[in-house]
Amino acid sequence: MVINKFVFWRVKLFLYFLIFIGCISRPPQEKGGFKKTDLVELTQLDSTLHLDIRYATNNNFVGRPVYTEARAFLQRPAAEALVKVNKELKPLGLGLVIFDGYRPWSVTKLFWDITPKQYKKFVANPKQGSRHNRGCAVDLSLYDLASGKQVEMPGEYDEMTKRSYPNYMGGTKEQRKMRDLLRSKMEANGFTVFEVEWWHFDYKDWRFYRIQNIPFSAIK
Ligand SMILES: [Zn+2]
Repeated sequence: MVINKFVFWRVKLFLYFLIFIGCISRPPQEKGGFKKTDLVELTQLDSTLHLDIRYATNNNFVGRPVYTEARAFLQRPAAEALVKVNKELKPLGLGLVIFDGYRPWSVTKLFWDITPKQYKKFVANPKQGSRHNRGCAVDLSLYDLASGKQVEMPGEYDEMTKRSYPNYMGGTKEQRKMRDLLRSKMEANGFTVFEVEWWHFDYKDWRFYRIQNIPFSAIK
């Protein structure tokens, strides 16, 4: 009975310790001048952008929602560049579908903490923060304007395998063509593809924006 009580208190203390660590976790403090944050809701700029915010559903690598609202934001110049890409795709019968844009830092921290060591290259280290935290990275794919269906790519979004590499030579010719088309349109408008994820693009001015930890509900 005495032993059980001892174990109980040890478990309780350990839980308090985890909660304490969670509470003191803060984004890295960055020195220097930055542009004023101006996060824009993407669908307000262009209603033909489709949203598939996986992190607001169970359909993501965490297995549960990490966002309470299915919304997507980027810093204004990045959002305007994205709208341009979407317009250029229209004559080809295609549009952009957005999986994620701005991501609060606390979510990046959670992704890092739950991802096993061998897959860490697919997630950002919270010590440096992610370009998503700066509102200058977007995860996206293509959809067919006529059917509204997402276009097939050589791999799935958030898949942690070599099929995610933008230069992966597997899959069908058509899948690779679609992936490369997305990349070329994004690159022509100031975005760079991430070397291990065909769906992730950074906007050229990401260095000028601070890491943010504001929740979606606080963005008008
Ligand atoms: Zn991303």
